[in-house]
Formats: sequence, structure tokens, C-alpha cells
Amino acid sequence: PVLRVALMGLGGYASIVAKAMQDCKRAKITGLISGTPSKLSEWGTKYNVPEKSRYNYENFDDIKNNPDIDVVYVTTPNALHHDQVIRVARAGKHAISEKPMALNAKEGQEMVDACSEAGVKLLVGYRMHFEPKTLEVIRMRNADEFGKILFFQGLSGFRIGDPNQWRLNKALAGGGSLMDIGIYSINGARYMVNEEPIWVTAQETKTDTVKFKEGVDETIQFQLGFPSGAVASCLSTYNMNYLDRFFLNGEKGFAELQPSTGYGPIKGRTNKGALTQPHVTHQTLQMDAMAGIILDGDSPVVAVDGAEGVKDLKIIDAIYAACASGKRHELNL
Ligand code: NAD
Repeated sequence: PVLRVALMGLGGYASIVAKAMQDCKRAKITGLISGTPSKLSEWGTKYNVPEKSRYNYENFDDIKNNPDIDVVYVTTPNALHHDQVIRVARAGKHAISEKPMALNAKEGQEMVDACSEAGVKLLVGYRMHFEPKTLEVIRMRNADEFGKILFFQGLSGFRIGDPNQWRLNKALAGGGSLMDIGIYSINGARYMVNEEPIWVTAQETKTDTVKFKEGVDETIQFQLGFPSGAVASCLSTYNMNYLDRFFLNGEKGFAELQPSTGYGPIKGRTNKGALTQPHVTHQTLQMDAMAGIILDGDSPVVAVDGAEGVKDLKIIDAIYAACASGKRHELNL
């Protein structure tokens, strides 16, 4: 069977997902949800979605009566994911939420609980979990090719443009760079080190208080400590370009990915040489893999379920708390 996907929020990222899904073997677009009628008719024509499977934000609860939709992929601004995913669950459909799945761990857990009560699956759009070079580094680490892991560095950032966009609006974004791009270093530290962090320290710097208002972080550096003694040192920013790099260091070797989380091609090398896995559009791989997870109960190498998203949000909560207190915060994931 093929996973039948309704896209919610027909913006920039939904366009990328929709295009990538044209090459999927196991997933197809069968529904659309948007507040803009002209988008519904344009996308409906382009992706062959009939009028009866097009919805707006008022009436999308009616998907419960639509046998042609298995899952809703929520790609709206961060603050909306929580309520929208809960409504999808109550309509009896599986949900995929874009990252960050919510604004904080409490909201994330409410989404997990609503989906489990409704008996539906909740996945988070962590596309790197299916990326071939990333998976090769993970395979090498699991085969002990780097030895005991000691250190991870994650650099995630770009210079953000338009000051009026939702990403710089605390109410819709929930924060700043950390919610949007720093989350890649947080998530990456966990899947690269293969442990859950037990403490966090963090420092915030802001050079532009007009563009980056109260509660919207510009640059945060943070450090994570792991039970084995491994440490991670990361930087998240909306004010520097060319920051997309992962470095994993072990007793016997290293891996370096740069770019590490952009749309690709990802480039990388280890102490044994260049990584040569071919590039495939991330969202194509992701949606085919998610079809397997939802329809067949497949277990991905790196989890992408709601619990995984909540762990990242607990770390985000702790990073913001550590920035405010200047102190080390303990974590219990
Ligand atoms: P966008 O602004 O391009 O699109 C957001 C869409 O939501 C727009 O179509 C907008 O009309 C709609 N929307 C619905 N209600 C809205 C409201 N109340 N206010 C504003 N817009 C509203 O943003 P985007 O870049 O597509 O990001 C959407 C989500 O996808 C975010 O959570 C973001 O973090 C995530 N994202 C993920 C990746 C990835 O690689 N996984 C990449 C980009 C974005």
C-alpha cells in the first residue's frame, strides 16, 4: 500500500516536500489544507487532489470522514503544530509534525499523549535520519570504527533576512535561531554521540535588539554532557552564514560533515576517507521511510517519533533556562 498524505500549510517547506514526493514510491499527496482558497485550487490542480479532499483551517476536522487520507503532514509555523496535530489525532488520522514539534516539552508531550489516546502515530519531520552519509557515519560508529566517542561539535546557522517574517515573531516561532536551526545540532548531538545528555550549559549573545526582540534568540552557544563523559559544543545562530557543520571525534577516528544538515548534497569524510554515498532528495527518502513506519511498523535506525521530538524540546527548554540562569542545568530524558 501507499501512504496517502494531506499537506497542511502550503508554504515554502510544503512546496519542497510536495515536489520531493513526486519521486516517492510509497507515499502520495491525497489531501490539502490551507487558509488560502487560491492555493487550494492551484495545488489541487497541480497535484491532482480532488475538491472533496481540500480543506481549510476551520473545517479540516472533517478529514475523519475522508477514507483517502492516512496522515496529515503539518508544515505551518511552529506555534500552530500543537493544536493542529491534536485536531488531526482527534480526527483519527496519523500526524507528521515539522520541527520543532512544539514550543516546549510540555506541549510536545500533550501531542504525544493525544496521539496515543487516539491510537494514531506521531512522527517529526527529521529528514536527516534517512540521509545516506549521516547513516553511514552512524553505521561506522555502531561498528566501533571511531572507538569510544569523546566529542561532538555542531554548528548550525544562517543570516536571516526579512525582519517581519514569522521566524522572528516570538508568538509564532517560540524563540529564535535555536527553535529553527539550532535544533539540528541538538538532535545531531544525540544521534551522533548515541547517548542522551545529562546536563547543559548555555550562553546567549545578541548584537541586534531591533531585529531579535525579547525572547527571540540571535546566537546561542551551548554545551551538553553525556553519561559516558563525552561532551558536545554547539552554536546556533541567525546572524552568521556558512555554519552547517558536524564533527564527531572518537578514540580511534573522526567523522566530519559539512554541509551537515542543509538540503544537500551533504559532504563528509572520516579518518578512513571521503563518504561516497549518493545524494537522494532528503524529503523523498523521508516520506518513503515514513510510509514504512506508519503502514508496516518499520523501525528506523534513528527514531523519528513524537517521543524523540519531546527529548529535543526538553533540551531546548534547558538551554533557554541555562541562558537565563547562567548555571548548569541537569537533564533527565
Ligand atoms: P512558510 O512561512 O514558508 O510557510 C508557512 C505556511 O503556513 C504558509 O503557507 C502560511 O500561509 C501558513 N500559515 C497558516 N497559518 C498561519 C499563521 N497563523 N501565520 C503564519 N502563517 C500561517 O514557513 P516554512 O519555511 O514552510 O516553515 C513551516 C514549518 O516547517 C516550520 O515549523 C519550520 O520549522 C519547518 N521547516 C522545516 C524544514 C526542514 O528541513 N525540515 C525546512 C523549512 C521549514
